[in-house]
Amino acid sequence: MKKTDRILAAIAIIVLMIFAAVGGYLHGRKAVTDELEAERAAATIDAEEKIQLEQQRDELADLNRSSIMSMVLSDGPIYVIGHKSPDSDTVCSAIAYARLLQKLGFDAVPMLNGEPNNETKYILEQAGIPVPEILEDAAGKNIFLVDHSEYMQSTKGMAEAHIVGILDHHGVGSVTTGNMVVYEGRPIGATATIVWLDYLNYGIELDDDIAYILLCTIYSDTATLTSSTVTDADRKAAEILAAQAGIDDTDALARKLHEELLSYEGFTDMEILFSDYKEYEAYGTVFGIACANAIDEETARDLAARMKAVLPEGFASKDVGLMYAEIDIRENGEKIDYIVPVDELSKQIFEQAFPDYDEYDGTAFIFRKGCGRKTIFVPGLTDFLATQPHD
Ligand code: MN
Ligand code: MN
Repeated sequence: MKKTDRILAAIAIIVLMIFAAVGGYLHGRKAVTDELEAERAAATIDAEEKIQLEQQRDELADLNRSSIMSMVLSDGPIYVIGHKSPDSDTVCSAIAYARLLQKLGFDAVPMLNGEPNNETKYILEQAGIPVPEILEDAAGKNIFLVDHSEYMQSTKGMAEAHIVGILDHHGVGSVTTGNMVVYEGRPIGATATIVWLDYLNYGIELDDDIAYILLCTIYSDTATLTSSTVTDADRKAAEILAAQAGIDDTDALARKLHEELLSYEGFTDMEILFSDYKEYEAYGTVFGIACANAIDEETARDLAARMKAVLPEGFASKDVGLMYAEIDIRENGEKIDYIVPVDELSKQIFEQAFPDYDEYDGTAFIFRKGCGRKTIFVPGLTDFLATQPHD
């Protein structure tokens, strides 16, 4: 090849390379532009979708609100109230639900059905919310029940009350009414979670102090999200409420709550017995179950002996056929229960209803896999009583 030809060939190659480079560049640019355009289009669709979703959510909230606004009321405020021997779920759900009703324009007042425990007192103190007053008689008043639907667990005069609503996560109880009522029962970890869902359902903004008490309550009623009744709703509620309440160390909060629950400081043994006491009726038999909490088996044995000592007097003060104290230990995800029967009859019936206990130590039947009052004890005893002769 001549020198000039070589130069020409080199030039041709360079030109080709430039074309290729420019072509590639332009092609790349077009791809980028297409991508940007696609992104922009997607963003527009997202924004439109978001507006649509928000509209749908608002419409749904309006529809849900239209039904609660039809609540049939008699004169006076709506008293929102939980069960006797109040636990945190009963007290805090009443407070949070009364606040919801207030935001919907109702005259609503949270009330108590007995002195709160140390855990509940701690939660309210931290939130800066005053302890509600005790309602002595429900007769003739507008009543919204939370966390129970049993007359036996309710305030005096409940049979003559004007029931306007029930919010609960237990079995269907004995409370009846001919009124059209708000009735919301769910198989869920805590009544507090139903309250949280209702804030969403009615499109009502949740105050920070309410976020804090609902979070504590969900932890309290679900053994820090470990109990068998926990649902995704409870977990999600806890996550969102913790963020709103500004709680970073949820483990520390759970530990503190448990510590407060275990501290029976200022309580006599009889007060401990009735601090978390519930009565039930099945096939003509009325039975009472008192729950107490212990940190370990040594504390549980001590508490079981103390409960055994006060049980007969407690039994005599109530109109029940059977009575038990249940000492609950939960540590590191494990749950152990000590069940103390008040007398020989309560013992014999328990033994027949629950033959699969691990040990009987002369005071208590011990269940090393737990015997939760709501999940095992009450349904099991009810089933057993059904098999016994009754009217
Ligand atoms: Mn409760
Ligand atoms: Mn509850």
